[in-house]
Amino acid sequence: MNDLELDALIDSLSLDEQISLLAGSDNWHTTAVPDKSIPSMRVSDGPAGARGTSFTGPASANLPCGTALAATWDPALVEEIGRLLGRETRSKGARVVLAPTVNLHRTPVGGRNFECYSEDPFLSARTAVGYITGVQSEGVAACVKHFVGNDTEFERFTIDSQIDERTMRELYLVPFEAAVTEAGAMAIMTAYNKVNGPHAADHHELITDILRREWGFDGIVMSDWFGLHSTAEGVNAGLDLEMPGPPIHRGAKVRTAVDQGLIRVQTVRAAARRMVRFMDAVGAIADGGPGPETTRDEPADRALIRAAGSAGMVLLRNRDATLPLRISDLRTVAVIGPNAREGQIMGGGSALVNPVHAVHPLVALTDRLGAAGVTVEHARGAITHRSLPRIEGRLLSPITQELFATTAQMHAGEPPTATRTVRGFSLMWSEDPAEGVPLATLALRSTATFTPDVSGEWAFGTTATGDSRLLVDGEVLLDDADRPAGGSFFGMGKSELTATVVLAADQPYELTLEYERTSMGMMAGVTLGAMGPLTVDLIDEATALAARCDLSILVVGTNPDWESEGYDRLSMDLPGTQDELISKVAAVSRRTVVVVNAGSPVSMPWLDEVDAVLFTWFPGQEFGDALTDVLLGDVEPGGRLPVTFPRVLEDMPASEHHPGRNGVARYLEGRLMGYRWYDTMGRLPRFAFGHGLGYATIDITGATFDGTSVEVGLTNRSDRAGHEVVQVYVHRPDGDAGYVAPADEPQQHLVGFAKAWVPAGATDTVSVQLDPRWASHWDVEAHAWVAAPGHRQLRVGRSSREISVVLSTEV
Ligand code: BGC
Repeated sequence: MNDLELDALIDSLSLDEQISLLAGSDNWHTTAVPDKSIPSMRVSDGPAGARGTSFTGPASANLPCGTALAATWDPALVEEIGRLLGRETRSKGARVVLAPTVNLHRTPVGGRNFECYSEDPFLSARTAVGYITGVQSEGVAACVKHFVGNDTEFERFTIDSQIDERTMRELYLVPFEAAVTEAGAMAIMTAYNKVNGPHAADHHELITDILRREWGFDGIVMSDWFGLHSTAEGVNAGLDLEMPGPPIHRGAKVRTAVDQGLIRVQTVRAAARRMVRFMDAVGAIADGGPGPETTRDEPADRALIRAAGSAGMVLLRNRDATLPLRISDLRTVAVIGPNAREGQIMGGGSALVNPVHAVHPLVALTDRLGAAGVTVEHARGAITHRSLPRIEGRLLSPITQELFATTAQMHAGEPPTATRTVRGFSLMWSEDPAEGVPLATLALRSTATFTPDVSGEWAFGTTATGDSRLLVDGEVLLDDADRPAGGSFFGMGKSELTATVVLAADQPYELTLEYERTSMGMMAGVTLGAMGPLTVDLIDEATALAARCDLSILVVGTNPDWESEGYDRLSMDLPGTQDELISKVAAVSRRTVVVVNAGSPVSMPWLDEVDAVLFTWFPGQEFGDALTDVLLGDVEPGGRLPVTFPRVLEDMPASEHHPGRNGVARYLEGRLMGYRWYDTMGRLPRFAFGHGLGYATIDITGATFDGTSVEVGLTNRSDRAGHEVVQVYVHRPDGDAGYVAPADEPQQHLVGFAKAWVPAGATDTVSVQLDPRWASHWDVEAHAWVAAPGHRQLRVGRSSREISVVLSTEV
């Protein structure tokens, strides 16, 4: 459609039709204007994969999480992942994927850090550009989120992120700016929070002045789900699309605001025009409507996810070359830890997908080591659930789920509208669960026979985005009516209610879970968990196993109970008794390898007691195979840290100001985020930003600067080929050329990097292209980027703390 055709189409729409385009029709679709051949367009969540319209719909590829991708320091590889995500999105009949998440790691404990990339804006920007370029090459728009200041989950719907202008420009806006100006991102999602006063969705300065006018963005801006709180303000700020639908603040309310002179018809027309232009550009008009939702699962996808998973794994420590494992030295291996049998392939929250499959560490290690004649044994070692775990399928009969259109229908004892057999009590729906059962009013009853495997006191727990009741053999055990929401389902559901009951092993009991929708959130959900009495001491069992094996591999970490949208972590400690488990296992093991499966930093009080530590993040569906590839040395541990690991949480830059109080998060640490803070304040981190070991030994032997890029010499001193991630940091000396550094002036910051592959014994050079703004800063008075003349140091190294060459230059 050319501009004339577009204008003609928009002018053929009535004002109400134009207004209808400015809000969704349901959770995942825009509103169609069928008479004018404008179809509805589907959007799908990301970034962990393209889920489609349902949490239980056709399965999707599950990709490495944001931190895992940033840890590859390989935008070209991330671009390939983006392409795969684009294809996945198309397979769900959608033209927009709600990804990537490019907020920064202001603290190590942000609940969604795993979804975001890094504490560094430049690394985040490079990763985002690769990702978006890949996604959009497949005819899918990337919707970059959350614009801006949604860096933790604390009071996320209402908190006012107060960020000074220079910090905003030099840190938080950088990935969004690159997404728009370099990758041509077609869509932006505003944040839930307020930014220096107004809600992000009402922010004229951010949406219109900066995004559209300054950066030249010509795509669409949508609200985060239920993140719009106004009618006229949002439209006038330039926010095109209220999501989800049906509209709460738009529709007839926009019409009234127009009639009252609060919104100009031209403003409505411009937003409607952007919507149609966007749909045309992405192919949604030609589609004629959303396509079917299907699963695509190809060997090449699995191979790519596996390669990207291991490319992001960071070898933090490797005493006496413990890794890669030498199979010939092993007869028995103990695989211990709560994340071994069930590895965490992704974090929790709206990014969750129903994966096509999941390869867990224990299975993969057993297969690969077993094939080489090594015996693998497992002990769980610790329990790390925050809420009670799902009931194991082997203890349950098939579950009968009765669905009712309304609560009254269920209470009146009328027959259900739909009945089906399901495998789990826990569920989450963002769409009508069955024909005739509306999401808004549904009620349900799930019934199954439960046969415990141990006698004693069993704990049961429910969470729900409404009211739930659990009956055991007809007796009410749990009833959470009248409890307030908050604590589950990303803040929309109630915290877990638990109670215990004494049950006998091998005796059948009838469990009945009832759920009633009482609130108008975007989703319906209820969970049921249960745990029987423990019959063994898990740590004793694990240490006994470790003592009789040649090697212990501990697979520890977090899970979505701890790392999820909706809440932040309260500490960096590994959940439960995992720290004690690791120390006790290390004390009796001949060799101890710790695999940490978490999306963001954890404290490691046992670090000096173990031989090797590999950090895997949430590496996606191929976790076990990607991990085994690295442990056995088939693949290099390609990752470097995209975030500093502090010694203790109190060391972190935002420590005194996090999470905020009285509704305000003041970013008083300014530009001193992450390594900028540790390096400037002289605080020793546990592991520095950029750190990561390879199996090869590669030296940086020299560097030269030609004004735009740094040529770096590398020599591989080992008999293995390997990667090095060469990093360039800039430092501006205080007092030089009359420059008086402000209090939040970072010692140094990253301005370039390159990942080089160096063959065994070879010498090579790699060219590191510098950020064109490497010598610039945001000048608040000039309201522009300014390259101030003077002296600069370019520090070339393999982490922010391991600098091999320092070059001096003048600007
Ligand atoms: C999240 C967004 C997500 C949206 C739709 C919100 O809760 O903040 O990132 O895309 O839900 O699921």
